[in-house]
Amino acid sequence: MHPSTRGGPVAAPVISTAQVTYDTDRAHVFHSWSAQKSLRPMVIERSEGCRLWDGDGRSYLDFTSQLVFTNIGHQHPRVVAAIQEQAAKLCTIAPAHANDARAEAARLVAEVAPDGMDKVFFTNGGADANEHAVRMARLHTGRYKVLSAFRSYHGATAETINFSGDHRRWINDYGSAGAVHFHAPFLYRSEFHSETEQQECERALEHLDSLIRFEGPQAFAALLIETIPGTSGIMPPPPGYLAGVREICDRYGIVMICDEVMAGFGRTGAWLAVDHYDVTPDLITFAKGVNSGYVPLGGVIIGERIASTFDDRVYQGGLTYSGHPLACAAAVATIETMRDEGIVENAAAIGRDVLGPGLRALADKHPSVGDVRGLGVFWALDLVRDRETKEPLAPYGGTSPAIGETLAAAKDNGLLVFNQYHRLHIVPPCIITPDEVREGLAILDAALDVADSHT
Ligand code: PLP
Repeated sequence: MHPSTRGGPVAAPVISTAQVTYDTDRAHVFHSWSAQKSLRPMVIERSEGCRLWDGDGRSYLDFTSQLVFTNIGHQHPRVVAAIQEQAAKLCTIAPAHANDARAEAARLVAEVAPDGMDKVFFTNGGADANEHAVRMARLHTGRYKVLSAFRSYHGATAETINFSGDHRRWINDYGSAGAVHFHAPFLYRSEFHSETEQQECERALEHLDSLIRFEGPQAFAALLIETIPGTSGIMPPPPGYLAGVREICDRYGIVMICDEVMAGFGRTGAWLAVDHYDVTPDLITFAKGVNSGYVPLGGVIIGERIASTFDDRVYQGGLTYSGHPLACAAAVATIETMRDEGIVENAAAIGRDVLGPGLRALADKHPSVGDVRGLGVFWALDLVRDRETKEPLAPYGGTSPAIGETLAAAKDNGLLVFNQYHRLHIVPPCIITPDEVREGLAILDAALDVADSHT
């Protein structure tokens, strides 16, 4: 019980509701990815569009989309109403039944997928979507091992953390998932000493092919890859890379799974990031943007070849809340609204005309910015101590005062920015307006002066 809610003598100091929330949180909520004692979470009282308000009534422009999921912005009235209507009609129903919200959500998701990918298996989020995609691939091929990239993230469950390829795996890796990692292309910090995108692409494909040959191609069920890696650095692959991966998968009978949990549903200025690369994987996983996280939802879009494996054979897998009606109603309203309001087109135009050019202008001005990359509303600034050596402004897997002070400067001026180690990820909602982008860039400009002082 919070001290302020106990009975007793009257003259107790007045404690704000925000303070009560904060204290109760600190007493009882165990937060993810955090040392609990040093954590100072913001109290968020309300949100709308691209903005949030804290417990003191201060407003912030949200360049994080939270964990990169509020693609449609906060509190979109049409999505809120759809959830309310669904709740009044049918809050929940087991996955075995047919239900209008679930059926319509699956139809709309399949509609934005490449041709021939018509079936949708629903999950509660991204990690379980990847788990099920891999399970489908294993059952389809009768093989076990899974290829995935370094500099990737596929979720925090026991299997998906093993498939992930950054420091978050190290501490949780019990080596049990048959995961084999490869280097995907990333010219700015090339593992292949490449000088051009084309070289990087060719060398990365040669490396993948040789890795598979030496590991034993017959062992691999699946290759799991983020179409555009997100939390590991927002690294759009060079033209031809994903088509090359598709060819390699076909050559060795490996199921190609594209993880679009972060990149999907408008984030890159296309419905799905695969649309930029003209490639059709066997399976696509999604979550976050499908309904902007208003109610947890994820899933696997299944191509015909894999789907038909289970025509007469039981798919041994499922989740109690698979295709939850509230989540599906939110997805239907989100996708329809994104269509009606041209939100995907907005994300593309913002990236092309305002955010991309604005971030490049900041890079020209600030020595701490070593690289700018991205598209749509999906951008990263690589912050460095020295542009020549590319020494990161924080160590891999950690943070530094330089990064902490830069983020604090942005926050003090009303801008929330997400960092991963030495990088700032600039990932506002897809609905953001040019004026809001300019407002955020002006605050970022001042914050980068702080980063510059550490170069
Ligand atoms: N895959 C990718 C590419 C992600 O970015 C994430 C989360 O950020 C996940 C999977 C895991 O999703 P969830 O946290 O919903 O399990």
